[in-house]
Amino acid sequence: MHVQRVVLNSRPGKDGVPVPENFRLEEISLTPELKDGEVLVRTNYLSVDPYMRCRMNEDTGAEYLIAWQLSECLDGGGVGVVESSCCSSCSEGDVVTSFNWPWQTHAVMKGSVLQKLNPQLVDGHLSYFLGAVGITGLTALLGMREKGHVSKGANQTLVVSGAAGACGSIAGQIGRLDGCARVVGICGSEEKCKALVEDLGFSAAINYRQDDVPAKLKECCPDGVNVYFDNVGGAISDTVIEQMNNGGHVILCGQISQYNKDVPYPPPLNDKTQETLQKKHITRERFMVLSYMSKAEAALCELSQWVKSGQIKVLETTVNGIENMGVAFCSMMKGGNIGKQIIKISE
Ligand code: NDP
Repeated sequence: MHVQRVVLNSRPGKDGVPVPENFRLEEISLTPELKDGEVLVRTNYLSVDPYMRCRMNEDTGAEYLIAWQLSECLDGGGVGVVESSCCSSCSEGDVVTSFNWPWQTHAVMKGSVLQKLNPQLVDGHLSYFLGAVGITGLTALLGMREKGHVSKGANQTLVVSGAAGACGSIAGQIGRLDGCARVVGICGSEEKCKALVEDLGFSAAINYRQDDVPAKLKECCPDGVNVYFDNVGGAISDTVIEQMNNGGHVILCGQISQYNKDVPYPPPLNDKTQETLQKKHITRERFMVLSYMSKAEAALCELSQWVKSGQIKVLETTVNGIENMGVAFCSMMKGGNIGKQIIKISE
């Protein structure tokens, strides 16, 4: 059987911006003869995520990430269906997922690395398992719950950066559902600002490419900022932290504005911001969703119910075809997505 796959063609280089030419499409032949414990899967959807930028370097800068190797098949979050199985825990027709799904149209995988999914949790929208009812939703929910200290009736203001992206769009909605009095999003276009306020129920939105961020933030957060869900780091985060109240909480989710720089994670803060954190007793602990997987099952049920009831709206940007993995990744890194960036590989 002939299958297509995507390999790493080249690395972006020191402090380099990734380009679609860093990725290469290949055709290979796959012998679907399964050994004991193996399954043949057909890929339905693949995910591109910011952390993959670190995997493109020879040194990922993070101890939990393994560098992708040149000319080898890439991998990440994926969802697909079992076409044949030599594994007792998987049957033909099962919908399955893995964090290390090969960027390949069909693949032979060990059944033991696959998790079985219940399509009813997403009303058949299987791509949601890579987003709102998958690792992205878990990051938003567990990040808010573990590090946000939100309590109903406490009149808290939540600010979310990267607010129109996969994690940010869900985190802001959870902030509203969990009882924040005001939820303000920061993102990179007018179209995104409109979606946040009109579709997702954010109180206000700031376009960091156009607006005077410090002034607009003051206007949108007249009582200051209590909780900050930080997806981007850099100058935007310095500005938000400057306007935080005493005893506030930063949820250190990600720092995408620094990912094209070869710096360790998390990148160091400047002295002024560091001083503000200390002076105002603001917490800023690193959050890693993978450290909380014992809470994943219950959290996924909660997310599924919110999505099915319409209390959380899901935004996705979908690109078709495995040949577009590199284009989709580079586009997401530059803000081409609203909501979760998904690549549809097959029906
Ligand atoms: P998104 O869907 O949010 O996509 C990335 C977005 O980042 C883009 O759409 C773009 O939106 C924004 N962006 C890119 N460059 C910049 C910049 N220089 N300044 C400001 N914004 C920028 O991705 P995810 O939701 O998957 O990830 C969001 C963050 O969460 C990342 O930092 C990621 O590493 C982190 N993460 C952390 C996890 C954890 O366990 N801690 C798990 C999963 C994700 P715009 O148009 O607004 O610029």
